[in-house]
Amino acid sequence: MEGYIDCHCHLSAQEFDEDLDEVITRAKEAGIGAIVAVAEFPWEAPKILSLSQKHKDFIFPCLGVHPVQAEPPDSQRSVTLEDLGQVEPVIGDNVEKLVGIGEVGLDFTPFNVKGASDKDVQRQVFARQIDLAKKFDLPVNVHSRSAGRPVIQLLKEQGASKVLLHAFDGKVSVALQGVQSGYFFSVPPCIVRSEQVGCPETEAGEGDPAGESDVRDRLTCTGTCQTGEK
Ligand SMILES: [Zn+2]
Repeated sequence: MEGYIDCHCHLSAQEFDEDLDEVITRAKEAGIGAIVAVAEFPWEAPKILSLSQKHKDFIFPCLGVHPVQAEPPDSQRSVTLEDLGQVEPVIGDNVEKLVGIGEVGLDFTPFNVKGASDKDVQRQVFARQIDLAKKFDLPVNVHSRSAGRPVIQLLKEQGASKVLLHAFDGKVSVALQGVQSGYFFSVPPCIVRSEQVGCPETEAGEGDPAGESDVRDRLTCTGTCQTGEK
């Protein structure tokens, strides 16, 4: 495999439903050699597996449940153990196809957590997915928002070793604890507006917290991770 690898992309997002084949063609033309398709919600798992089947050796599946779940119409809530319960068997049944467990993590944005119990359940769901990753010797693709320190702490407590932190927004001192533990950090497109600075990603298909960039138009972003062979 040659070219850039987009290590964190939401290709199963509904925004891509209309013209996904064209999006993939443009990504290949732009020099993307592979895309890691991450999941947020339980319904995405079969969709991502089928995309990876259709685009073998280009789309690689990474399954898990995100700490924030969306319920139509556009309302958000903190993840539950029931959400994880829907995805765990799919992971177990398809583990030989997966390149990682994700997108998993903690999101303590006040809007998304109603109290201590939501945070506690997020920790339980994250810890169980770290255990799954360890059991199957897979990396975790980790989301952290307003939870940099607790994310690094939980990863260390759980003995996670293969870790990619995406769009990490914690303090530099906390990030350095992750670096010391051998964790990787991928850099999202918003780097162009930030002085914070690893392994770039497009996060295509995911909403931009600042609302300043198109969620679809990132597959040709110049900031993706170049590699030789998988
Ligand atoms: Zn994401």
